[in-house]
Amino acid sequence: MPANKSLLVLPGDGIGPEVMREAKRVIDWMGKKRAVRFELEEDLCGGCAIDAHGMPITDDTVKKAQQVDAVLLGAVGGPKWDNLPFDQKPERGLLRLRKEMDLFANLRPAVCFPALADASSLKRELVEGLDIMIVRELTGGVYFGTPRGIETLPDGQRRGINTQVYTTNEIRRVASVAFELARKRRNKVTSCEKANVMESGVLWREEVQKLHDEQYKDVELQHMYADNAAMQLVRNPKQFDVIVTDNLFGDILSDEAAMLTGSLGMLPSASLGAPDATGKRKALYEPVHGSAPDIAGQNAANPIATILSFAMALRYTFDMPDEADLVEKAAKEVLDKGLRTGDIMQKGAAKVSTTVMGDSLLMALSKLAG
Ligand code: NAD
Repeated sequence: MPANKSLLVLPGDGIGPEVMREAKRVIDWMGKKRAVRFELEEDLCGGCAIDAHGMPITDDTVKKAQQVDAVLLGAVGGPKWDNLPFDQKPERGLLRLRKEMDLFANLRPAVCFPALADASSLKRELVEGLDIMIVRELTGGVYFGTPRGIETLPDGQRRGINTQVYTTNEIRRVASVAFELARKRRNKVTSCEKANVMESGVLWREEVQKLHDEQYKDVELQHMYADNAAMQLVRNPKQFDVIVTDNLFGDILSDEAAMLTGSLGMLPSASLGAPDATGKRKALYEPVHGSAPDIAGQNAANPIATILSFAMALRYTFDMPDEADLVEKAAKEVLDKGLRTGDIMQKGAAKVSTTVMGDSLLMALSKLAG
């Protein structure tokens, strides 16, 4: 049996524990059926950690997250903790993890399952079969640059300041994630900035091009202004394979791309750090959605985004692409059968609970595995 693979599971709050329960059944299935053993440890992050320890994540949990191969998180937050000061809120636990693990590359796939193509705001032919990957720089740019703040000018007007700033290394390390991904996909990277009006955009374009010419000549590279990319995403999204962009443009473009696919309950994500000496990157996998307090505790949440986040862990951390394909195919199969949780419900489909969605996905997995 191959070496153990370690996962820290942080179910979190609201629907987090419900969707994670189903993901853990898939992890368990992999352990039993695919001759690979996952060493699972479970811990608290978010509101549940505030209740237990008075803080959204403990040093001990952060240390564990640094030591395992990957972290799988459900969702954090909820009305119970809404009135806490900003720096004590559940979300701080997640932000601290991202910061201390230095997770600078955020991967958001936008995949449109044919069975859900009618849930998109675009025409079926534009989105059916869509499979793009947005790589967003996550730890730099205008959200972190200084100087920043709001100041009062001598004439009494107020001025708000944020600074867009990127260094060579910050650009190169995220661009290299995009090139590596493209090599495993359809071999094309579109790099987006505003080099027409921003010096940081000029630097971004030059550094991405330089890295391409030095190390990734085999990958097709296209540069596109971010505003044009926003238009192209709704005009002809299938022209893209991997999009790489900065923190601000990535925030916007990844949400836009996500909505092309229908529902929040279907969207996984990964955040990756720098490779260590063995080439392994620190990694956090989580669904894009939040803790959905409006449906928490009702066994109504869609577990597919969390299960697909585990599939991303199989692909990007554990180097098990066949198993990742298997999980994605199983998700496609349950949707093709017409099974739907409330968030993706369509006329003529069968509405199922979180647990039944999990049961059906496991059955599909076993069937596909033969
Ligand atoms: P949300 O994503 O939790 O919910 C938005 C809507 O989508 C709700 O109607 C919800 O029922 C639905 N939804 C979301 N995920 C679903 C799923 N898997 N299945 C079925 N329906 C689903 O966003 P929100 O309502 O803005 O935030 C709720 C809480 O979650 C807040 O405390 C917020 O801070 C937190 N939040 C956490 C994260 C995270 O943990 N990464 C991300 C976003 C929001």
